[in-house]
Amino acid sequence: MRQKGSGFDAIVIGSCMGGLTAAALLARLKDKRALVLERHFQPGGQTHSFVRKGRFRFDVGLHYVGQMGPGGMPRAIMDFISGGALEWKQMPRSIEHFVYPGLEFTVQADPKSYLKNLVALFPAEENALRRYFSDAKRAAFWFGFRHFVDSLPRPLRPPARGAFNVLGSLARMTTKEYLDGRFKDGRLKALLASQWPDHGVPPSKSSFGMQSLVARAYLRGGWYPVGGAGKIAQTIIPQIERTGGEVRVRANVKRIIVKNGAAAGVAVEGEGGEEPLYAPIIISDAGAANTYLSLLPPDTPVPFRKELESFPASDSMFVLYICFKKSPAVLGFDGGNFWVYDSLDHDNQPPLSPYFLSFPSLKDPSAKAHTAEVAVMSCYEDWAKWAGKGWRKRDKEYYELKERLAVKLLEKLESRWPGFKDLVEFYDVSTPLTMEYFQRNPRGGFYGVPCVPARLGAPFCRVETPVRNLFLSGSDVMSPGIVGAMMGGVAAMSAAEGVSMPKIFRKVMGEAAGRR
Ligand SMILES: Cc1cc2nc3c(=O)[nH]c(=O)nc-3n(C[C@H](O)[C@H](O)[C@H](O)COP(=O)(O)OP(=O)(O)OC[C@H]3O[C@@H](n4cnc5c(N)ncnc54)[C@H](O)[C@@H]3O)c2cc1C
Repeated sequence: MRQKGSGFDAIVIGSCMGGLTAAALLARLKDKRALVLERHFQPGGQTHSFVRKGRFRFDVGLHYVGQMGPGGMPRAIMDFISGGALEWKQMPRSIEHFVYPGLEFTVQADPKSYLKNLVALFPAEENALRRYFSDAKRAAFWFGFRHFVDSLPRPLRPPARGAFNVLGSLARMTTKEYLDGRFKDGRLKALLASQWPDHGVPPSKSSFGMQSLVARAYLRGGWYPVGGAGKIAQTIIPQIERTGGEVRVRANVKRIIVKNGAAAGVAVEGEGGEEPLYAPIIISDAGAANTYLSLLPPDTPVPFRKELESFPASDSMFVLYICFKKSPAVLGFDGGNFWVYDSLDHDNQPPLSPYFLSFPSLKDPSAKAHTAEVAVMSCYEDWAKWAGKGWRKRDKEYYELKERLAVKLLEKLESRWPGFKDLVEFYDVSTPLTMEYFQRNPRGGFYGVPCVPARLGAPFCRVETPVRNLFLSGSDVMSPGIVGAMMGGVAAMSAAEGVSMPKIFRKVMGEAAGRR
């Protein structure tokens, strides 16, 4: 039942992939009006783009997306929520280059070639490699399945959880345990774990299920949204507006209003104090930690509050955004990604290693100027003394540290690709504090709840919450990444409206079939 002063059927906190997906599905499947509240001045959360000097476009949290080939479910959902208006460009077939001291390997966007090339390099490990490809499939399935369990009808959940506990052992082991138990060659173990920064947890701590999900997501290629990541929000918002829904920016939700044990609305920061807004359904895309530890009133009974408080935060990143004078294609780059490591030991990397190098402009046929993004894992403690000071209001020492790191990183790029520095016209840098300030992620963590084995089954990674009418969306309820967060949005809408996920999938696939 709508409360006085509302007018919306649902309020969604946060406009990242999970929030936009839930709101668009409410509109498209149920003709409902959702109000999406975003604290940033731009909609889209980590899917938004920003521009420097009027022509250099960068993406905050998207380098490439897997499973966007036509025919599959993730692509069909993306088309459904964007009304088919979002175009995807496939990356080159040599999608990823893993670079280690004395070892280089290029991943081809085709599992057979990927396996064949690994076997050619490590013939003694052929059997273990073949087994790895099938184990990764099972582990990824069980990782996804565990997060899917809570969207099943209630009576099916206990047996499904039981099945996970028996059959999901691969997903629950750490990546390192898996690799050490099956492979002998340390170089091969390092290669197979190369993409761990895609989920943010090194092999000794990550769930093998999560590692497998990431590695498998790109087996058949990577895609990039034409026009940049910002096109995601630009194409989804009209679907939300079709039924009278709205996406409001600069709308910082201070707290969730709870009445008689149920979520009844939110209080939004306003010039004259807090503005209450009411709706019968509240969906939070702000992440588990923000939702339970900051947005819900502290006296709300949350049985797992202590467990969540002591759960580790995810690590953060330092990102160098480079504007080029001319195309980096002159140095041989073609849009494939590079993962450059100074050591084979993923758990003990020297400073500024690994770095991930990607070229948005080489992936985007509509780009007006050439760009690169270089992301490096970064420790929050190195930046913590400037926390709490606003964006562009930190002192000289902070900017000097950013500059020193940027220069060192450019030196590393130059030593590997002579001539790189000459191409650079201008650069900018973001730090863990940028992420903390804009995304509200605790300690600038870039992936929400970290993908350690304990995440599987954690009560705070579920769509349904202990508070009636409050649902969680986004990557924390499925998996990090654009597709994971989108699936979190599907699960949130499904739980909020009592529409089963298979029913949503059938509707989406039906529309996809009509488009072909
Ligand atoms: C540097 C980087 C690179 C990445 N690269 C890729 C990639 O190449 N491919 C890929 O698939 N994924 C990538 N990701 C991950 C991907 O961007 C995220 O996993 C995904 O976008 C998370 O979506 P989410 O819906 O869970 O929302 P979140 O990211 O958790 O966003 C939460 C939203 O809620 C808003 N919010 C928070 N608190 C409030 C409040 N109180 N009031 C109002 N609004 C609030 C925030 O501003 C934000 O918009 C990358 C991430 C980063 C940081």
